[in-house]
Amino acid sequence: MSEQTVLVINCGSSSLKFSLIAPDSGEQFVSGVAERLLTEQAFIKVSYQGSKQQTALTEPFDHQVAVNFIVDFLQQAGLSEKVSAVGHRVVHGGESYSQPTIIDDSVKASIADLGKLAPLHNPVNLIGIDAAEKAFDGLMQVAVFDTAFHQTMPSKAFIYGLPYHLYKQHGIRRYGFHGTSHYFVANQAAKELGKPIEQTSVITAHLGNGCSVTAIDNGQSVDTSMGLTPLEGVVMGTRSGDIDPGIVFHLIEQLNYSPDAVNSLLNKESGLLGISQMSNDCRTIEDAILEDNDTHADMTMDIFCYRIAKSIASYMAALTHFDALVFTGGIGENSDLVRSRVVRSLALLGLTLDEQRNTDIRFGKRGIISTDESVLCLVIPTNEELVIAMQSSDIIAKQQG
Ligand code: AMP
Repeated sequence: MSEQTVLVINCGSSSLKFSLIAPDSGEQFVSGVAERLLTEQAFIKVSYQGSKQQTALTEPFDHQVAVNFIVDFLQQAGLSEKVSAVGHRVVHGGESYSQPTIIDDSVKASIADLGKLAPLHNPVNLIGIDAAEKAFDGLMQVAVFDTAFHQTMPSKAFIYGLPYHLYKQHGIRRYGFHGTSHYFVANQAAKELGKPIEQTSVITAHLGNGCSVTAIDNGQSVDTSMGLTPLEGVVMGTRSGDIDPGIVFHLIEQLNYSPDAVNSLLNKESGLLGISQMSNDCRTIEDAILEDNDTHADMTMDIFCYRIAKSIASYMAALTHFDALVFTGGIGENSDLVRSRVVRSLALLGLTLDEQRNTDIRFGKRGIISTDESVLCLVIPTNEELVIAMQSSDIIAKQQG
């Protein structure tokens, strides 16, 4: 085992994912996820040495109980001595954080303050940080922000067409998310191209339950499809993506929706789920198309793929040159159907898929799916945990001089 290992914690409102990673080698020693936290059904699943075990969590079924379970597990497996730091995924870093940051009381206070911009995420990220601080007393804790990579966006990309004081006084601007994933796959694409990242310009499509597309010019994020919140952009699993803001007033004034009901509609009941009236899961929609010839599922998929293609094409305005299109995320890595439909709309950008390569590269494989004549199109499995481990270890090394 390498000298340094980082425990990576990704806290959601009712879940907590973790993994213990050696940043130098990328080796993952143990990983797991606690789900249904804050309910009596809370459990934790741990993958270790090729086997998986599931254990019910005890009262009060919260994030602290999950973290304590992880600490005990690491101790029993003889791994706890090796944990040199804890790296946390934090969703919103606002304009204050463009780099991973060692957590102290003032950083915690700003993460709490940024909860204004990410009320569903930052407060639970803080719960994870507090729980880990208690459990790993004395270890350095690092925050790696989902928004940080996009802090290089120019004002023409991040300012909304709204009165400027809303930005200056209230921070209402586009921030973008999935930053660690876009950063990781762009760097991997540069390696594939044999170019330094500083000279590499790619468009990365992170397509999972949440979907975002990013334009990366000479290694820097210059535009991305998500905005102030992860609701903006392309159509997603349950989120609408871009809509006419006038729809919100129509729902409230004409159809008597409450603000809460609109929020839930746009975030949880729209997207693939809302259009298909079937599922937010891309596989279910694919099955309905391929096995049942379901024309409504087919239309849903067309809407999803067209919006992604349109977003990719729009980034021709953001790039100085275009080296490659990269697919990642659960759908981007696995759905040859989505990739095929997206790229079919992008022939004018010089992209053509090799359908055999496209079918072959799924389920964790990486590689080229375009024809030899095409602009390069790649599938690269993302690894946000590894980025968090590497960035946490780097910042600690710098701090220790
Ligand atoms: P993520 O949020 O990155 O875990 O991605 C979740 C999405 O990936 C869901 O919509 C899944 O349906 C989709 N997905 C996972 N595996 C496959 C697959 N084999 N084919 C198509 N979509 C998949």
